[in-house]
Amino acid sequence: MREAVTAYIGVGANLGDAAAQVRAALQWLNDLPQTQRLSASSLWRSAPVDADGPDYCNAVAALSTRLTAPVLLQALQGLETRAGRQRPYHNAPRTLDLDLLLYGSARIQSPLLTVPHPRLWERAFVLVPLNEVAPTLVDAAALQAVAGQRIERLEAVPLPA
Ligand code: ADP
Ligand code: MG
Repeated sequence: MREAVTAYIGVGANLGDAAAQVRAALQWLNDLPQTQRLSASSLWRSAPVDADGPDYCNAVAALSTRLTAPVLLQALQGLETRAGRQRPYHNAPRTLDLDLLLYGSARIQSPLLTVPHPRLWERAFVLVPLNEVAPTLVDAAALQAVAGQRIERLEAVPLPA
């Protein structure tokens, strides 16, 4: 059997009841095959970056998974579809966006998948929740670099035991 890898998933939504959608997605991540959710961040509210529409609700989850990175990406896209995601144009508002931020220490550069996620270090809505679940991965300078971006905590995620 493949070894388990720790992967970090960025979760975002800004259509409908975005917070409810993010909460649901955090549960769905725990139900993926060969995968357990290790932890989840608080829910955060952030202003859209390079995009339009309402504010986003964001979170980050840490997973332990035996899925390969491309299979995990496919599974994440399946969950986006389950949430009714449509892609009318680039950076359109979305019911659910699931980004593979980090997959162990892997560096992946393929037409479908870039890991670490190329915009990870530019976005407060990724770094701030990532810092909650993996503080050793995010240093103070990285947080300082995105300090101008508006983000506020909505609620701590109640995790089942
Ligand atoms: P974005 O998240 O950049 O706003 P999408 O969710 O529509 O936009 O993703 C566009 C494409 O990005 C996907 O079809 C996927 O193949 C690709 N992609 C590349 N690297 C990643 C990654 N690390 N996580 C998620 N998607 C990725
Ligand atoms: Mg995406």
